[in-house]
Amino acid sequence: MNAELQLPLERRIGKRSAAVIEKHLGITTVEGLLNYFPRRYMSRGELTPITELPLDEDVTLIARVLSSSTRHMQARRGTITDVIVSDDDGQQGLRLVGGRDFTGKVPGTLKISFFNGFKAKSELLQGRRALFSGRVTSFKGKLGLTNPDFQLLDEDPFSDSGKDPGKLAAMPIPVYPATAKLPSWKIQKVIATLLETLDLGSMPDPVPAAVAARQDFLPVADAYRLIHVPETAADWKRAQDRFRYQEALVLQSALARRRAQLAAEEATARRPVSGGILAAFDQNLPFTLTAGQAAVGTTLAAELAQDTPMNRLLQGEVGSGKTVVALRAMLQVVDAGGQAALLAPTEVLAAQHYDSIRRTLGPLSSDGLLGGLAASEGASVQVTLLTGSMPTAARKQAMLDAASGSAGIVIGTHALLSDNVSFYDLGLIVVDEQHRFGVEQRDALRGKARKPPHLLVMTATPIPRTVAMTVFGDLETSTLDELPKGRAPITTHLVGLAENPGWAGRIWARAREEIDAGHQVYVVCPKIRTDDDGDFSPGEDAPPGVESEEGRELASVTGVVDHLLGEPALAGVPLAPLHGRQDPELKTGTMAGFTANRIKLLVSTTVIEVGVDVHNATLMVILDADRFGISQLHQLRGRVGRGGLPGTCLLVTALEPGHPSRRRLEAVAATTDGFLLSQEDLKLRREGDILGASQSGGRSTLKLLRVLEHEDIIARARDDAQAIVGGDPLLAGHRELADAIEQYLNPEKEAFLERG
Ligand code: ADP
Ligand code: MG
Repeated sequence: MNAELQLPLERRIGKRSAAVIEKHLGITTVEGLLNYFPRRYMSRGELTPITELPLDEDVTLIARVLSSSTRHMQARRGTITDVIVSDDDGQQGLRLVGGRDFTGKVPGTLKISFFNGFKAKSELLQGRRALFSGRVTSFKGKLGLTNPDFQLLDEDPFSDSGKDPGKLAAMPIPVYPATAKLPSWKIQKVIATLLETLDLGSMPDPVPAAVAARQDFLPVADAYRLIHVPETAADWKRAQDRFRYQEALVLQSALARRRAQLAAEEATARRPVSGGILAAFDQNLPFTLTAGQAAVGTTLAAELAQDTPMNRLLQGEVGSGKTVVALRAMLQVVDAGGQAALLAPTEVLAAQHYDSIRRTLGPLSSDGLLGGLAASEGASVQVTLLTGSMPTAARKQAMLDAASGSAGIVIGTHALLSDNVSFYDLGLIVVDEQHRFGVEQRDALRGKARKPPHLLVMTATPIPRTVAMTVFGDLETSTLDELPKGRAPITTHLVGLAENPGWAGRIWARAREEIDAGHQVYVVCPKIRTDDDGDFSPGEDAPPGVESEEGRELASVTGVVDHLLGEPALAGVPLAPLHGRQDPELKTGTMAGFTANRIKLLVSTTVIEVGVDVHNATLMVILDADRFGISQLHQLRGRVGRGGLPGTCLLVTALEPGHPSRRRLEAVAATTDGFLLSQEDLKLRREGDILGASQSGGRSTLKLLRVLEHEDIIARARDDAQAIVGGDPLLAGHRELADAIEQYLNPEKEAFLERG
């Protein structure tokens, strides 16, 4: 059966269907399709005739589209699509029931309205049949549905003629995650066909028999059949219970096995030395460490001194001072004779780290040329920058310094990962702002050390994946939950242009006030250019679906700069654009100008999202803020309020109040607690990509498990996994579980789980 699971789909369902499934769902194997589970189920028993719709109740009905029209709203942005449907399938003779005319047009029909209903507009074409489910509302005395869920149906959903009608009425209709071109019912048919070709009785079961018996799970064969073709609601619920637990068990076993493997790895211990650079650094520190910084420092110091690799995540609110914590760990390693690498997500951030770390180190830092001089005055560390855009000669020198060991701290971007970069003795890797780096990249860097190096990953807002990992509990986590003294609060306002179009001008007047007070302003846009030349990329943690909105012109860096140059409120203000497509020298120059307060207003993309530290900036204006994800917004606003001056963040949106995407903005405006926000983020992502498939391209999304909802299941599975792996570390006696781990998580994914 295992081999059968890996078969290409076409061998089971035919070339044509297999091609359609691959094109629309990206699934190519039997196993993949078998594990493509319905998102939910609708019950035919609930079907309500249009003529008997109860007000204010949830209904499900099957109806045919008579007409559809889309219009722009007058007062606000956006469209309304009105779909008139009828469930009377006679050719004519639409009935007037109870003398009531529901739509004012055709008796016996119903008007369904979709707010920005792009999917409805494209799918609910005249003549199509669909299953609708939603709450009945009344508008001007007429009953209707607003934004109901719907699913297109084939011509005759009741054509399963062999079944007895009573049973059929009770059968739930599975609703698969579908696309316009491949509706749910077609997926259902293909899967039903597939199920008939398989010998489900020989399906491997990753859940050990004893565990399955204890929890009274359905046998795996029944579970597959009933999750796809349930006869009752109880069927799919039991099937889901087993698969949900199975998913948790596979994940937890992968984690448990990795933990066991890690504990067996050997690293070089980097013990603190007295009278070293770290001691000198601590003596000259211009501020006192916060209690949290000191405590985390102690933990890191102890772990670096062990001969098993440290694997730690440092979570800390934006501005909580993670860099100095990391720097102290790096100095301990340098004191012990090793090297440390600091991996930053962007060139801007790498350059800034390089400058600020050298500044912080003062005389303790030497660069290649002055090294001898500084060294003669006492111990010092050479800090080296290595990025892809450096001139060749400088880059070669940096590479040489890393390889020879003369560079103690190497700061860089992805360039550090390239094959021709090597280290003399890499002892510690620090990854800053974790969510921009994938597993493979961290692994590439790990591979540059002779023995497994110590690893410190730093993240501000924990992204959902990290939250998930925290809930899964495989990470060693440290948290900085207090900000250094003297931090002023950041106030965040939601600026809704839909309801207050006049506010657009006030934003720039507000910017002028800040600048007149001697402060600086960031303006962030979701795009680089005005013309749609394909450079738009929604923020990487933007929730799924943000790209699907049509017809909105988004703020772009070049467009906004043009506009601001003619904006009277900002007359004479030195401003500059900054984005990733610029020449690196231009970028560096612009950042330097902004840091030196020559440039007062910076219009940029999210290149400034992480780490940028300009204390004099007090206002952050985020245009089309709805295009960004929660953690991005939180990161962005963390750029202001850094120098003891209160910060203000304006989240500007053209979306109407009540639009689902505005909930994210409201959440960000409501709290500055990054941990609360990441929980919120996770809740708002329905198909949360919890294992980070976007970074490794794998099929890694959790299927039935939701980390917030199913903590208890996860905890149970974790205990079971711990017991299984504890007694059988290689899973030699649990082949089917071991196989499931391999199949479910591709190798990178497993490595990721381990390292967080
Ligand atoms: P983040 O955690 O967001 O990376 P940084 O490490 O960039 O924060 O620190 C933000 C600023 O706070 C820096 O300018 C840093 O020098 C300063 N800082 C760090 N620790 C302290 C402290 N204990 N007291 C005062 N300022 C500090
Ligand atoms: Mg930082």
